Amino acid sequence: GDELVTAVDRIMGHADGQARLRVRANADNPEDAARARRFGARGIGLCRTEHMFLGDRRRLVEKLVLAETDDERRAALEALEPLQKQDFVGIFEAMDGLPVTIRLIDPPLHEFLPDLTELSVRVALAADDADPKDRKLLEAVHRLHEQNPMLGLRGVRLGLVIPGLFSMQVRAIAEAAAERRRAGGDPRPEIMIPLVGAVQELEAVREEAERVLADVAAETGVDVPALIGTMIELPRAALTAGQIAEAAEFFSFGTNDLTQTTWGFSRDDVEAAFFGRYLELGIFGVSPFETLDREGVGRLVRIAAEEGRRTRPDIKLGICGEHGGDPESVHFCHEVGLDYVSCSPFRVPVARLEAGRAVIEADGSDNR
Ligand code: PEP
Ligand code: MG
Repeated sequence: GDELVTAVDRIMGHADGQARLRVRANADNPEDAARARRFGARGIGLCRTEHMFLGDRRRLVEKLVLAETDDERRAALEALEPLQKQDFVGIFEAMDGLPVTIRLIDPPLHEFLPDLTELSVRVALAADDADPKDRKLLEAVHRLHEQNPMLGLRGVRLGLVIPGLFSMQVRAIAEAAAERRRAGGDPRPEIMIPLVGAVQELEAVREEAERVLADVAAETGVDVPALIGTMIELPRAALTAGQIAEAAEFFSFGTNDLTQTTWGFSRDDVEAAFFGRYLELGIFGVSPFETLDREGVGRLVRIAAEEGRRTRPDIKLGICGEHGGDPESVHFCHEVGLDYVSCSPFRVPVARLEAGRAVIEADGSDNR
């Protein structure tokens, strides 16, 4: 038992010693963060905050989305902020001294709204006796209903249309970081904006975020620096990365959405209906959602990395789509010169090994 553990540790240590790519983990709670750290993760590359709004808090989010007055909206945000702050305190503690990339909320809206059909049936069956509150809710849900929620009101768009939403999250991040710092910890927050396609979107959010960070620093007397960066997960973002880098200290490639939007394949359906035929035709050997498609999606990643570096030579580059834990894709990330890959905690050891092997392989081919 122990000898094996020591041997594995030695191999992993060797791989880490060779690797240029760092390995981080995708984690949304302190338990996963701690587990990832035990597996050797050197930070969190993606904390998906929308997961923190499910369960009991769903009702508050529903209130927020459906709020008709500023007061209703403010009340919902004020109820959410302390909960959100506590989420971050635990994660910073588990990842003390290591970077934690927190992505501002990116839910497809339908996940938070009551089901339209269910609500319609309820109101229809009750006919004249329908609860006026249900009627109002139905009207609002109907208004917000989308045929393509994955291409709809999510990511940065949500932050741009719901005043105060992103500010609430940035405030929670800054207050949590200040609290950890006061307790002697070393929090390293990085704030990430999802689904950006144009630099102007990022500029608007950045301005708001910087204001909140300055406010919290003044209120608490603790100034914890936070990087602000963006996901690159739309073809337009990759193609205009040179402009986007003006407003971003880091890029993280969201290759799940980038694959979906580059191929036009739905990541939710994983296209079972025709993938088999595509495999037969040799269009790909494995699903492009599993192994990064070098020629299409990969080409966009290369373009974005180059353009981003041209604008900002020290820009930090990572990947946090599922590909971050796939061996073949890890090699690609090394070739492109990314700084880190981020994957689910259980895939961290494999990613570490591959990050080390990628260097050895690249050296071998240089010598040939
Ligand atoms: C992605 O799109 O690759 C990503 C990491 O974000 P999410 O999977 O949460 O959309
Ligand atoms: Mg995404």
